Amino acid sequence: MYLCTHLSSTIWPILFWVLNPPATTLPLLRDGVLLSNVIASQQVHKDFGGVVPELASRAHEQNIVPVVSEALRRAGVSASELSAIAFTRGPGLLGSLLVGTSFAKALSLSLDIPMVMVNHLQGHILAGFVRQEGVPVREPSFPYLCLLVSGGNSQIVKVSSPLEYEILGQTIDDAVGEAFDKCSKMLGLGYPGGPVIDRLAKLGDPERFHFAKPNIPGLDYSFSGIKTSLLYFVRDQMALDPNFLENNKEDLCASFQKTLIDILMGKLIRAAKESGIREITIGGGVSANSGLRARIVAEGEKRHWNTYLPEFKFTTDNAAMIAVAGWFQYKAGVRTPLDVAPVSRLSDF
Ligand code: ATP
Ligand code: MG
Ligand code: FE
Repeated sequence: MYLCTHLSSTIWPILFWVLNPPATTLPLLRDGVLLSNVIASQQVHKDFGGVVPELASRAHEQNIVPVVSEALRRAGVSASELSAIAFTRGPGLLGSLLVGTSFAKALSLSLDIPMVMVNHLQGHILAGFVRQEGVPVREPSFPYLCLLVSGGNSQIVKVSSPLEYEILGQTIDDAVGEAFDKCSKMLGLGYPGGPVIDRLAKLGDPERFHFAKPNIPGLDYSFSGIKTSLLYFVRDQMALDPNFLENNKEDLCASFQKTLIDILMGKLIRAAKESGIREITIGGGVSANSGLRARIVAEGEKRHWNTYLPEFKFTTDNAAMIAVAGWFQYKAGVRTPLDVAPVSRLSDF
């Protein structure tokens, strides 16, 4: 969520936090610039090999008030200076979203300031606009194409303004982040799979193995077939050599990652051609991938695109991107009524 102040027209701190586990985070923005970013990481999940939704919402509930106080203290701002609060309405884990939405309502009522709801994916799409004091940032101009690649989504989005989006293509089954995660689990490499595969891929040969690519019309994606293709391939090789996986995991990761990147880039290149748009950004957890980042830059140079990569820390879930998305809406006069309810799925938005 975020808040801004009424004190003067030039001071608009925006407090905000995103309630996707595993951290309760509260960035404070003034005029769209990050003033402070307090993060309370949740340690409660570490013994469970994933996020436990019930534990996440309880931890948010315990953390939220101290985190808000600390964010204000570090930014040197008092609660009465806040002029708005932004919050994630969804999609995400309902329990956590409820804590955030309820807190936003309470703050909005008690301070008599407006609240602004944010779609989590909008945050990923605008991650490149997070401004930090003293850090120069190159921002895309509108309209731009965003390759949104995360744990739950894979889309090519045309962004005409901070408030106007058009999905040009999207996955018809798994998200690309899911393909990273499921295949990593299958290979016994751990969770989340993206960072592990990324690290091993750097040590391997991306041309060593070849996996079948899907043939999906238009600008849509599919990532469920490649998972099966990897599974069968590894199973067959293990029947011949029980040490195959252990001896080839770097090459497997490099080849698998390259296949995913090829699929992503194929449609992005097509979208850029068809739309005539050369401003290209990426967002979402998979945009942390070093192979994808290098490839976007390389294709951009070849194709005369202007490419923009969000800073590494704003790729996976973070609150600063939600603050910025909320700030754009606040500036445009968008206000969310107090009877708003959080939603877990995108389709319910
Ligand atoms: P969504 O935003 O669609 O709701 P989410 O919030 O769960 O999904 P994000 O935090 O945006 O997902 O991204 C998490 C995903 O990013 C995971 O699937 C993870 O494996 C992937 N990921 C993180 N780092 C990397 C990396 N270096 N390479 C590839 N994938 C990565
Ligand atoms: Mg998430
Ligand atoms: Fe996300």
